[in-house]
Amino acid sequence: MGERILDLLTAARARLRAAPHTPPAREANLLLGHVLGWPEARILAHDDEAVGAEQAAAFTALVERRLQGEPVAYLTGEREFFGRSFAVDSRVLIPRPETEHLIEAAMAQTLPPRAWILDVGTGSGCIAVTLALELTGTRVVATDASLGALAVAWHNVRRFGVDDRVLLTRTDWLSGTRTRSIDLVVANPPYITQADAATLSPEITDFEPHEALFSGTDGLTSYRQLFAALASLRSGTPVLCEVGHTQASAVADLAHERGFVHHRTIDDYAGFSRVVVVIRG
Ligand code: GLN
Repeated sequence: MGERILDLLTAARARLRAAPHTPPAREANLLLGHVLGWPEARILAHDDEAVGAEQAAAFTALVERRLQGEPVAYLTGEREFFGRSFAVDSRVLIPRPETEHLIEAAMAQTLPPRAWILDVGTGSGCIAVTLALELTGTRVVATDASLGALAVAWHNVRRFGVDDRVLLTRTDWLSGTRTRSIDLVVANPPYITQADAATLSPEITDFEPHEALFSGTDGLTSYRQLFAALASLRSGTPVLCEVGHTQASAVADLAHERGFVHHRTIDDYAGFSRVVVVIRG
């Protein structure tokens, strides 16, 4: 008894393809892989095998949730970032590929041995963990205002075995954080304007945490708070921020008002401004 994998996938792919938000048909593989605990390659190589009725029902239930717009990353509990799979759930922003530009920019910095990095608003911890792994010897202070986010980040810190080098702290805009010992700051703060909320897909607005997405009427509130909170950084310390594609010069101006010098703006693969690098003056 049971249902053949190929039949389950064919039916699910057709339903996904017909859904208004047109999720990629490949997501059927990811959802079935999640139910069976199999990597995608095994699903594809063994699609003539049968699965039990219970597993088939669990899979169909996940496809239904996907059809209602729930992001596939929340359904599988995983999202790949910089080549590693991070645990995610609805308490955190789903890591985005464009944030990998921030990682590359951080890796290009010259840092002292055993440098301290500060990741403001760590969410899932994807930036903090990636930098701890890619920049051996560094230590990371990763902050978030949300306890739920810190629970997810802690899970990822443990998953990748960097709990001796990543320190998680709950704080709203760094009160109590000793920023004088920090050698590099990275942040992917919320930066979407209230007005743009209406232009986003319900897959984002109905499911991802609003405090991780939105930042006041002009989308710049979090950058104002960030630069104000970094007043006691040592002179010469770089701050790397992800920005929305129209925000680079506004963010550089805000930094300038707080005593930072604009160093450079880095574009993403689509040619949009994505990372602003400023230096504490
Ligand atoms: N730092 C996390 C990320 O880049 C969370 C960002 C956020 O919640 N705005 O995915």
